[in-house]
Amino acid sequence: MSKSMICSCEDVTADDVRHAVSRGYCDVESVKRYTGFGTGICQGKSCLSAVAALLEQEKALKADAVVPFTPRPPLYPTELRLLASAPVDESQPPVGGVPQEVDVFPKGLRPTEPLPAKAKVVIIGGGVMGLALAYNLAREGETDVVVLERGYLCAGASGRNGGGVRMQWGTPALVELAKRSIDLMKGFAREMGINVWLRQGGYLFLARTDAVAKRLERNVALHNRFDVPTRLVTPDAARDIVPGLTMKGCVAASFNPEDGVIFPWPFLWGYAQGCRKKGVRVETYTEVTGFDVSGGQIRKVKTDRGDIACDTVVLASGAWSPEVAKLVGVQLPNEPHRHEILSTEPLKPFLGPLVSVLDSGLYFSQSMRGEIVGGMGDPKEPAGLNMGSTLRFVSRFAQALMEQLPHVGHVKVLRQWAGCYDVTPDNNPILGRTPGLDNLLQMSGFVGHGFMMAPAVAERMAKWMRTGESDELFTRFNLRRFSEGALEREDMIIG
Ligand SMILES: Cc1cc2nc3c(=O)[nH]c(=O)nc-3n(C[C@H](O)[C@H](O)[C@H](O)COP(=O)(O)OP(=O)(O)OC[C@H]3O[C@@H](n4cnc5c(N)ncnc54)[C@H](O)[C@@H]3O)c2cc1C
Repeated sequence: MSKSMICSCEDVTADDVRHAVSRGYCDVESVKRYTGFGTGICQGKSCLSAVAALLEQEKALKADAVVPFTPRPPLYPTELRLLASAPVDESQPPVGGVPQEVDVFPKGLRPTEPLPAKAKVVIIGGGVMGLALAYNLAREGETDVVVLERGYLCAGASGRNGGGVRMQWGTPALVELAKRSIDLMKGFAREMGINVWLRQGGYLFLARTDAVAKRLERNVALHNRFDVPTRLVTPDAARDIVPGLTMKGCVAASFNPEDGVIFPWPFLWGYAQGCRKKGVRVETYTEVTGFDVSGGQIRKVKTDRGDIACDTVVLASGAWSPEVAKLVGVQLPNEPHRHEILSTEPLKPFLGPLVSVLDSGLYFSQSMRGEIVGGMGDPKEPAGLNMGSTLRFVSRFAQALMEQLPHVGHVKVLRQWAGCYDVTPDNNPILGRTPGLDNLLQMSGFVGHGFMMAPAVAERMAKWMRTGESDELFTRFNLRRFSEGALEREDMIIG
């Protein structure tokens, strides 16, 4: 084995890359997944071009396909305390921000095989929802399934989220679903053969007002009914859980040690790999552009690579769901809302739980790689499919973080990015059949918590689709509820 090192942060050699090529991983994106190059401290700065050159030399791909989604390394890694000093004008809404290049997906990466002319189930959206559903359908024996994704896997919210998984919800349905999801996540690495770095360090929710403290108190009783061991803690006890927290302005907290964090990318890749192994087609760089409808049913899904005739269509396009639904004349109440997020240079493990100040929407955790990963909602953010990054966000976030955890002021921010929450009027998903369009199934509206709900929701949905057995989840969260006004609002939303 040659020791010609390509990525020293992740200990990846030239032979590791050649081995990936021999296994059929023939573009920068999939070689990165397979070997882990470029995911370390340098974020690809010192190895990306070497891998690209090696792939060209190996004739593994055409030159125009060497377009990865690898994040750019920061020009000036900047300390949080410096970012906290940037002025923020709270009277102004956020500006557009530095745009991301998600609309220029390279055609060179498009699959070259033709799409199948027909499939039983077509799933629109290769985010965590679409892929988890496809995988669960295949487990139930239905493999005549095609997942259509207009970009790369991880292009949507599923590749942009904070990886938080928690059972601390305010309504029974979500507590139950999250509990089941976390159970499934525990077996994911073994089942899928991919490490998702699940760490159950808990979630510590901080309340600054009596009203929020009361909400936490109500939740504890609800959680305990489901055997979720959440407990209320005083500010002093919260400081025992996370030494260094100031608890400034906080009156109470709640803690569930079984909540945690997971690394989103391998979670998605694991589902995609699992789908493909079972014979499901996952077609990236393939955009749905329209539908053929007759007799109250969708007959064909049209894409920029051709049409697919189908029996059932599942709309799992996250924040893009309203615009895809509009192509078939269905109006959804979802609204996309940008949420920004960042990660810092890695530190030794010091932070057990994910901490969130409910009143301000601040949250931060430490990843298994040691980075502080955190975000903060912005009440002034207008609705829209905007995934640009702003100085306003890093500054607001850094100020709020310094207030709670001043000793991390010297830590440098390495990256920031944004994604869209897919927000419904009651903060609950839209699931089940579409009134008037019998074979269109809804699977969207997961706000800021779809990642942690996906394993359980997909498991239930696959069973419901395969067996036809009734399941109240798909009645409770049906699209019809918005016109009938039967809404049960979920309030435990971060951001
Ligand atoms: C900053 C941020 C932090 C978050 N933090 C958390 C968290 O800590 N925990 C948690 O559980 N959740 C979190 N979430 C929410 C979570 O990421 C989402 O709820 C979840 O990923 C939604 O998955 P999805 O599959 O529905 O949508 P997506 O992952 O957005 O997937 C939809 C896909 O559809 C594709 N698509 C769109 N239009 C078309 C078309 N016409 N044809 C084909 N494909 C199309 C898109 O490219 C996209 O990949 C966060 C979200 C954000 C933005």
